[in-house]
Amino acid sequence: MNQNKNQNRTVLISGGSVAGPALAYWLHRHGFTPTIVERAPELRDGGYAVDFRGEALDVLDRMGLLAKIRALDTEMGDAAMVDAEGRTYATLPAAVFAGDLEVLKGDLTRMLYEATREDVEYVFGDSIASLEQDEDGVLVTFERGTPRRFDLVVGADGLHSRTRALAFGPEEEFIRHLGIYTAIFNLDNYLGLRNTGRLYAVPGKAANIFTARDNTEARAAFHFAADSLEYDRRDPAAQKRIIADRFADGGWEVPRLLKEMDASGEFFFDSNAQVEMDTWSAGRVVLLGDAGYCAGPTSGRGTSQALIGAYLLAGELAARDGDHTAAFAAYEQQMRPYVAEHQALGQEGAERFFMPAPTQEILDMLAANAPENARTEPVRLRDYTPATAA
Ligand SMILES: Cc1cc2nc3c(=O)[nH]c(=O)nc-3n(C[C@H](O)[C@H](O)[C@H](O)COP(=O)(O)OP(=O)(O)OC[C@H]3O[C@@H](n4cnc5c(N)ncnc54)[C@H](O)[C@@H]3O)c2cc1C
Repeated sequence: MNQNKNQNRTVLISGGSVAGPALAYWLHRHGFTPTIVERAPELRDGGYAVDFRGEALDVLDRMGLLAKIRALDTEMGDAAMVDAEGRTYATLPAAVFAGDLEVLKGDLTRMLYEATREDVEYVFGDSIASLEQDEDGVLVTFERGTPRRFDLVVGADGLHSRTRALAFGPEEEFIRHLGIYTAIFNLDNYLGLRNTGRLYAVPGKAANIFTARDNTEARAAFHFAADSLEYDRRDPAAQKRIIADRFADGGWEVPRLLKEMDASGEFFFDSNAQVEMDTWSAGRVVLLGDAGYCAGPTSGRGTSQALIGAYLLAGELAARDGDHTAAFAAYEQQMRPYVAEHQALGQEGAERFFMPAPTQEILDMLAANAPENARTEPVRLRDYTPATAA
């Protein structure tokens, strides 16, 4: 039995998007003292839409946030597949791309922030610069703030995790590119769509537009197939030029969308990739969410696994009185099967991108086989009844 009760109480979490705040929520409820350091200067609004699976709904339910998240549902209906002239040739059922509950990622982050801001220290606009572990803790230096000691450090800082690079090695060792790049940006709903979207696909390339925020806005995306590209991840103008070159041959609304992209301040560009690691912990440092096991956007499961992972990691630390070695091993053991399933989905999704545009028959079949109905009862996880009430 563990003799050292209540050890490892202070936890630094790098990343304040989905996994980080969800973990902070649970750690606080279990009596730990989490601090979040987030590189962005402030909360990011909007962004693309994300959806959920059963166990993630359980986590949100246990956080008392299920009704709130359902109220944020984008209520996306079926979308249309269109050809180069904008003619609809198939209907894409919402069940295929939006699950049954879909929210804007920024709305989810804000909700998690609001659920934790009173109890959790947030440091925006900073990043871990170095980590030095010893027997009793981790000495952390920051790019801006003064050095601090923590008992444990969690990397919830996404696909390009700084924590992972510092504790495990360069990202090339762990990231597997799925052969697709994606750009997403905000724009006006200039087509006047109502709770729907339009998708245009040719071999190796696709563009789409979906409504957002009660049809007052839209989100558009470009996807293209490519082997790993060299580009500056901090230079959106250069990234926009890559897209413009790739989509110069136009079709459908592509010329207009390229102009909209140029003018848009909210722009995201990255490769579709997965993170594969033999272990998610190194001493007192552990990875959570995309940082440790990104399944890729094509899995549609990244948000769910971030929430499930946060719940399990905090629960195992509490159940083992902060014994990090045992807790990290138990977290990993429980989480691995989800990750394996989600990463397989991510690969299947990526492979579909390289196939000819699907027929209506195939789309209907995909809808009929959509894995679960998020409006049904959440799938229950193990109960780690917290010591402190919510
Ligand atoms: C285009 C696209 C579509 C997607 N669609 C879906 C979907 O439909 N359903 C779904 O479930 N998932 C979807 N996902 C995946 C989902 O967004 C992620 O899996 C999920 O956000 C992972 O959460 P996270 O908190 O682990 O990482 P992230 O959301 O990536 O957050 C990482 C955070 O760490 C911060 N950070 C980065 N570096 C540092 C640093 N050095 N120091 C401090 N902070 C740092 C970042 O600013 C960010 O806030 C999609 C992803 C993409 C890219």
